[in-house]
Order: sequence, then structure tokens, then C-alpha cells
Amino acid sequence: MYYIGIDLGGTNVAAGLVNEGGKLLGKASVPCPRGAGAIADAIADAARLAAKKAGREVSEARSVGLASPGSIDPERGVVLHAFNLGLDNVPLADMVTQRLGLPTVLENDANAAALGEFVAGAGMGHRSLVAVTLGTGVGSGAVLDGKLYTGFNYAGMESGHMVIHRGGRACTCGRKGCWEAYASATGLIRSAREAMETHPDSALWKLAPTLEDVDGKTSFDAAQGGDAVAQAVLDEYVEDLCCGLANLINVLQPEVLCVGGGVSRQGEALLGPVRAVLDREEFTRDSTRRTKVCTAQLGNDAGIVGAALVPVYR
Ligand SMILES: [Zn+2]
Repeated sequence: MYYIGIDLGGTNVAAGLVNEGGKLLGKASVPCPRGAGAIADAIADAARLAAKKAGREVSEARSVGLASPGSIDPERGVVLHAFNLGLDNVPLADMVTQRLGLPTVLENDANAAALGEFVAGAGMGHRSLVAVTLGTGVGSGAVLDGKLYTGFNYAGMESGHMVIHRGGRACTCGRKGCWEAYASATGLIRSAREAMETHPDSALWKLAPTLEDVDGKTSFDAAQGGDAVAQAVLDEYVEDLCCGLANLINVLQPEVLCVGGGVSRQGEALLGPVRAVLDREEFTRDSTRRTKVCTAQLGNDAGIVGAALVPVYR
């Protein structure tokens, strides 16, 4: 059985032909154009290319799964708002069905990525997984008892917007002190810049001569070189990250919690300190059965694989 998965991003439309076990048999990527009709055309093109790379035809696939950023209505297959795609109230699932002749479902991109990791990545062989992605924001999704959990209106698991510092940093959602204002790569960069402004002698300035040069790696590199200011930034970052991770583990008790996104490329330099804080914070810290905390395994393919399998696991 074959399934088409599409990961819609602001820059590219990525497509893959996937089997029922989540194995990616062929993939393709085309630039993401502007305008709803052009985007639907690009999705159809990318799907055909991916099938061809797998030595198959699109018509051999059972369905198409679309992973979209922004807010969506999966029941009607409508992208409600996706600002970085310029889509507003667009019946994208129907538009893709018209072009490819296959039933098409729509899912939020963070949920799709979690499903991909569950089936073919960090969650393989387990019944429950939470996937957290640390990027511009903090995305998250959960598969519980083998089912993708979305909440009744498909807006559940927006854990980036749980508050960890009440009255803290202003967030794009309108609240103050949201987890993503601290634990995203953007939050880490902001903390490094604030530390640089009060510590002109920090080695952070050697790696980033201006504040605009700071990225998600800068603090890790400076701390590695022995800079105490960068280390303090990272210590605080890990505490904030773990505050949210411990909240998720305490509420959901997943077997696996995987962390993806640019910051997770630090691997054990991040996960080692994270595990140490969770050993102190987690409610079930003394249990012999604890949530396995690891890095995500599929990288950018998680969205494609998960989108393809949404019709199987919803
Ligand atoms: Zn928020």
C-alpha cells in the first residue's frame, strides 16, 4: 500500500511516496509559489515527481496527506490561516483531489511530524510519543495509545503557548511568558543578546561581532570554549526548556519524548543537561519506568512521512 505525504513550507513543497510502515520510497521538492491555485499545482507536481522517483505512479497511492503550517480545519480540508504561505480560508484538500484524483486529508505540520517520528523514527515500537520541535517557535504533537491526539478542534498540543513565566516575555499569541518565548531558537538567541549587552567582555562577542550575528549555535560554541556568560545563558535555557518538558511528561506520560529542530543538533551537549534537570523535576523521577528523552530521528522527512500516514492513524 502506498501513500503520498506533502510537507508545505514557506520556501518549498516537499512530497514523498511512503509505504504503510512509514518507509520513504521516493521524495521530491519544488519551490513553493504564491497563490492558492499555484500552490495546489505545485503539490500535484511534487507528488508526481516523488512517485516517479519511487518507480510508481501517483494513481497507485491510496491517498494524499497534507501537512500545513498555521491553523487548519481538517474536517473540511480547509487551511484557515497560514500567513507564511499567504493562504486564507482555502479548501486545499479539495483542490489537490481535483488535480490528483485521490482522497486528500489535511493536518497541522507539528502533528504530522509527531506521527512520522512515532511510526518510523524515535517512537518505533512504542505506543505513545510526544515530539517537540525547537525552531522559530516551539512546535509539538502527540501520539497517545497509537492515535494522533489533536483535541476536539484540532488545535490541541500547542504546548509552545503554555506559560512557564507568568507575566514574562510577550508572545506572538498575546500571552506573556509562553514556553516558546524562552525555549525556541529565537528565545535562546534573545537571551544571548541580552547577556551580551550586559557583558561586553564575554567571548560571545568574539563569535558574534554584532547582535545580528547571534544564532542558535553561538551560546553552545562560546560555552564549549569556557565562556561563563554563555554557560549561564545555556543553564537558564535548559531550565526553561525542561520546565516545559517536565510539564508535558507529567501530564501525558509518553513512553518517548523526542526533541527536534535546529537546537537539537547539539545532541548530547543539550540532552545531557536536560536529563539532569528532568532527574530533579519529573514527578516519576524515582520510577523504574520513565519517559525516554532523545533527539528526533527523521529530520525534515518527519512531516512528509507523518502527513502520508494521517489517514491511517487519525
Ligand atoms: Zn504564546
